[in-house]
Amino acid sequence: MTARILVVDDIPANVKLLEARLTAEYFEVVTAGNGIDALEICETDKIDVVLLDIMMPGMDGFEVCRRLKSSKATAHIPVVIVTALDQVSDRIRGLECGADDFLTKPVNDMQLVARVRSLVRLKMLTDELRLRAVTTRGIGLEDLMRGASAHGKDSQPRILLIDERPSSYERICKMLKGIAVVDVVTEPQAGFLQAAENPYECVVISTGFSDYDPLRISSHLRSLDRTRYLPIILIAEQGEDERIMRGLDIGINDYLTRPVDQQELAARLNTQIKRKLYNDALRENVTNTIEMAVTDGLTGLHNRRYLDNHLKKLFERAKSRKSPLSIVMTDLDHFKSINDTHGHDGGDEVLRQFADRMRKKIRGIDLICRFGGEEFVIIMPDTHADIAAKVAERMRLENDTAPFLINDGETSLKVTASAGVAGMDFSNDTVESLMKRADLALYEAKSGGRNRVVTKVGDREPEARSA
Ligand code: GH3
Ligand code: MG
Ligand code: MG
Repeated sequence: MTARILVVDDIPANVKLLEARLTAEYFEVVTAGNGIDALEICETDKIDVVLLDIMMPGMDGFEVCRRLKSSKATAHIPVVIVTALDQVSDRIRGLECGADDFLTKPVNDMQLVARVRSLVRLKMLTDELRLRAVTTRGIGLEDLMRGASAHGKDSQPRILLIDERPSSYERICKMLKGIAVVDVVTEPQAGFLQAAENPYECVVISTGFSDYDPLRISSHLRSLDRTRYLPIILIAEQGEDERIMRGLDIGINDYLTRPVDQQELAARLNTQIKRKLYNDALRENVTNTIEMAVTDGLTGLHNRRYLDNHLKKLFERAKSRKSPLSIVMTDLDHFKSINDTHGHDGGDEVLRQFADRMRKKIRGIDLICRFGGEEFVIIMPDTHADIAAKVAERMRLENDTAPFLINDGETSLKVTASAGVAGMDFSNDTVESLMKRADLALYEAKSGGRNRVVTKVGDREPEARSA
């Protein structure tokens, strides 16, 4: 894993020590001796994780962290604060300033590497999502953050605690009272199922099982699609370093050691939940972006890009199964004059209503797309041309008899459409020749006087039947 780590400490010997350890693990290391330099480096270099000393002359680590987290350019960079041993209040203050994690001095080698690694992994995921969201839609990070925190404020987060010892889970539940809604499961296998089937914000797993390795739950959760990004916090005993290390390697997000400190637990939980909401918002944004790319904004129908992709698949499937496939291409008649008379908005309203009318007349497996301005294409799998022609005729008839109402129902106008129907010839057709035939049929419908349906069947439609 290559990643660039910024080490910030005013004492050169401390910097050297961390630098040497991280370099030995093939991380690229950048260093700063004070807060001002650190901020500048974060803004200009691509930094993946910051290791930040707290006690520094001038600007202290808390202030550096606060500034990093409040700037749009640097808020997403994970910050690990490095505090003196047993300074619980420092750690809590650091987490409150937005730090993602902390390490205590003297820094334990394995802990350092495992924590940095796990943060780098998380950062890579976030970077990837940010990149996709930002390039496709020009959405800023702050929009996503706003979405995430608004979501988070609504109600208390739901978390799952998997712990078999009553003395332990009762204590933790008490600590989280008013902070989170906690469900407790005492049996590990049942805990895993419960986590997989419910929308938890975080899972907390205790290591104190009499005869079960709790890390198995984590690795199951990581291998399941639905829980891949679900934050996991491990509560371990003192001296369980090796188990924690393994846990971090298989993807737990954080850990605490007993005795559990209430504020530390709350702060760590908060950090994990924030991150989850943030990543959820990004993922949702990416999904929306993908949807937008294939949807027509005016009518909500699929657009031409989608049609081009999807028709190929439907065509190949029909061909290999020798099942029929029909295409209806339809175009509004004299639409230009509707725009001329009722304005562009009036025209838009007609297009929307026309789309709704078509939607109501087709089956779920049919696919309607807005092909261009006032031209639409319907693909009907498993449908012979004669049946497709009947559907097209029903649509034509509705337009011919039921007027469109625009301007909030104040204007009633008659709008007709012409349609060309083509059935697939499974031995000779290509997607292009099939579309071409539908286009030709539409052209004939137009030149034959409009407001009509013309059908062109291929030479060898599969099992062609009479209507
Ligand atoms: P024909 O019967 O031969 O199809 O005549 P037509 O007027 O419908 O066809 P033509 O292709 O000459 O004009 C189509 C018009 O549709 C021109 C264009 O401005 C309008 N148009 C295309 N897209 C939109 C749109 O999204 N909204 C509105 N209101 N009009 C559109
Ligand atoms: Mg037209
Ligand atoms: Mg046209």
